[in-house]
Amino acid sequence: MVESYLFQINNRIRSLEELKGRIKLTKEEEEAFKKVSKVYPFAITPHYLSLMERDEPNDPIRLMVIPKREELNPEVQRGGEEDPFKEEGDIPHMTHRYPDRLLIRVSNFCPVYCRYCMRKRIFKGKEGAISYKELKRILDYLKRREEVREVILSGGEPFVLSNQKLEFILREIRKIKHVEIIRFSTKMPALAPQRFFDQKLLEILEKYSPIYINTHFNHPREISEQSEEALEKLLRRGIPLNNQAVLLKGINDEPQVQLQLSRKLLKAKVRPYYLFFCDPIKGAMHFRTSLEKGLEILEFMRGKISGLGIPRYALDLPGGKGKVFLSPQNLIKKRGKDYYFKAFNGEVVKVSLQ
Ligand code: SF4
Repeated sequence: MVESYLFQINNRIRSLEELKGRIKLTKEEEEAFKKVSKVYPFAITPHYLSLMERDEPNDPIRLMVIPKREELNPEVQRGGEEDPFKEEGDIPHMTHRYPDRLLIRVSNFCPVYCRYCMRKRIFKGKEGAISYKELKRILDYLKRREEVREVILSGGEPFVLSNQKLEFILREIRKIKHVEIIRFSTKMPALAPQRFFDQKLLEILEKYSPIYINTHFNHPREISEQSEEALEKLLRRGIPLNNQAVLLKGINDEPQVQLQLSRKLLKAKVRPYYLFFCDPIKGAMHFRTSLEKGLEILEFMRGKISGLGIPRYALDLPGGKGKVFLSPQNLIKKRGKDYYFKAFNGEVVKVSLQ
């Protein structure tokens, strides 16, 4: 039963009373829950809760999901915006930022509400999915925009949609010849991996290939045995998997944690793709580290894991101007045709280019 996805969704813990029955909350957490969850909702699946060290207030899973009073503190949240990347445009549920890519937010419903979410704004309303009418409007737009080669299905969580609705979306997109790739952004393999134990869903995903899936694991503890099983099932259907993590203060900003995350991802055949600097989101500013922190982590990882395991460190520019990538500076100086590089062990190595 616990292996069923529907069990996970139907038994989400949503209220303070239910949560108190499962884990020991501090007085401060209890107070924060009462106030904060009225603004930014709370939900957790039994699976994700089972990954938590229940009596440990600094447990990373706990810190990612249990409301904190900082979320509503105007001082702490200064500089944060609800939609800093101007995702909301004229057509609801759609963002067309890069010419060749179009993003559709197919739901505003998640099995778990992550406190750091860049789309916290969309969870304030009633939980639901995009309507067929709203989809049709986006599809009509998409048909006219021949420069779009990739469609990203995101949310909320896209895999909360029924198989029937997901198949409808995939089928309609596949009718549009200029769209080559469909990509999902999902945290489901961490929150309720049982979703991918559904053969029908796997068949649908295979049928509308090429489909890519970007997972969202931030901490090695999120990758459970069931997650690994779910990832394997997706890989067997020919779906490439890449991970996007967010750098979060006090959760995964220790270099060792990122190293372990990358090692675990690689073992599960998921490529650590991006490490995002935490966006300036109102309600999530307390998760931000310094910008340099990500560079220190990447520098630490060099030489300890192959390049395959080192994600690209990315920062989203405000106003919807897209991403920039940051990397540690290995070229120290240049003198004439001599270039001086810092090797992974700190040694300075001269390369003469004639
Ligand atoms: S969209 Fe993703 S990160 Fe945001 S709350 Fe949902 S599952 Fe968490």
